[in-house]
Amino acid sequence: MITLLSHKQTMEQQPKTNKPPHVLLFPFPAQGHINPIIQFAKRLLSKGVKTTLVTTIYIFNINFPNKNNTTSIEIEAITDGFDEGGYMSADSPESYLDTFKEVGSKSLADLIKKLESEGNNIDALIYDSFIAWASDVAMELGIDSGAFFTQACGVNTIYYHVHKGLISLPPDGPVSVPGLPPVERWETPSFVHDIGPYPGWSHTVFNQFTNIDQARWVFTNSFYLLEKEVIEWMRKMWNLKVIGPTLPSMYLDKRLEDDKDYGINLFEVKHNECMNWLNDKPEKSVVYVAFGSAAELQPEEMEEITWGLIDSDVNFLWVVRAQEEGKLPKDVTDVIKRGKGLVVAWCRQMDVLAHESTGCFVTHCGFNSTLEAICLGVPVVAMPQWTDQITNAKMLDEIWGIGVRVKADEKGIVRRGNLASCIKKIMKDKTGVVIQNNAAKWSELAKLAVDKGGSSDKDINEFIYELKHTMTHKRDV
Ligand code: UDP
Repeated sequence: MITLLSHKQTMEQQPKTNKPPHVLLFPFPAQGHINPIIQFAKRLLSKGVKTTLVTTIYIFNINFPNKNNTTSIEIEAITDGFDEGGYMSADSPESYLDTFKEVGSKSLADLIKKLESEGNNIDALIYDSFIAWASDVAMELGIDSGAFFTQACGVNTIYYHVHKGLISLPPDGPVSVPGLPPVERWETPSFVHDIGPYPGWSHTVFNQFTNIDQARWVFTNSFYLLEKEVIEWMRKMWNLKVIGPTLPSMYLDKRLEDDKDYGINLFEVKHNECMNWLNDKPEKSVVYVAFGSAAELQPEEMEEITWGLIDSDVNFLWVVRAQEEGKLPKDVTDVIKRGKGLVVAWCRQMDVLAHESTGCFVTHCGFNSTLEAICLGVPVVAMPQWTDQITNAKMLDEIWGIGVRVKADEKGIVRRGNLASCIKKIMKDKTGVVIQNNAAKWSELAKLAVDKGGSSDKDINEFIYELKHTMTHKRDV
């Protein structure tokens, strides 16, 4: 649980003069976007920056009902127009995104004005790059802003080049993007090669760049060695701060002692059940299967996954969210009865990945899951569904060498034989050893990046230096 500090307490504890810099952080209201921004807030806080997380009323009510608890990061809630049911209650992504922009722009501006009128200094607004309109709000109010990219630099570079018309996808054959090996059409994010089905989301990913030049900083949840070439290219464009991976510190450098989880779960967690089950299993014998917070699989896919796992003859822990549960085939029940499988609605993913019984991660390759696999050194079977996941799968397999991509058929469904053969490659073949060694190497490099003096630590310090410098300048003026 994130600890909170009420305004009254904050103001009382601070000296009236020489206030610390104060940053508002505004994530897109979805699990995979809130997690990295919360973690960045914790890092800033540990370095003496006052941080306020701005979230929607819906997310606030699920996660932070007791605002008067003991605390550290402050939380403020604004309306996105969907206070009761959040994103899921909107008629369509488009209707959510349009309303969020219209209602959210005003409620964000009102919040900033309210905080300022209460005597708070607000030195920067760090907004999720999916909410590009927040930058306009900051500009109108004369506040510095920073765009926070929660997806891989490689993915964002592709979006940028498509948005600016610098590349066009050939019907077949690869496309060339700075810092990446040749990218086949089907390996680009789905919004690039299949723009039609989700116009709202396509607009959102390309729109990240429309007003980016007015942002003073661009933050990205990656680390230098992971995406060195792309990062070098991005540095020429923007005042880039590469500040990841944003996992809780206890999985990385362990410098923030109480930082063991993200502190926010949009679903009910079955932690003890998972840990008890894992504790009984031999070392590296379990395949962990999870497709993040939003993916919806077809019943046929669920059946193929079930049989792929059964045919692999491994132990498996599978996260199937409550609304997906009805699609599970009956066959899975027998495996669970025999103790070889466990299905839960949600778990603490990092604890599962860090558990010594876990030997492989079948993942949809959301970027948080990707980074978590990298940091915890767990080899993956990459089974992307859509959006950036497809390109992340390429990077996991071809660039970072910590996974294998499982092929889908012409209907887009991964068949049991393909899944089983990928799992066996990692759990039982020699290929698995190479992949495991790579995974261990990346895990070490990730830890070094965020540790004292590491590349991400330095970028965070540099940001704080720049922030403080401006504050001093403003006070002098
Ligand atoms: N997650 C979790 N428990 C689960 C499944 C996922 O805590 O049972 C977390 C996971 O650790 C990650 C996030 O949910 O931080 C999912 O983010 P990701 O970018 O991987 O995928 P998305 O949900 O955005 O598709």
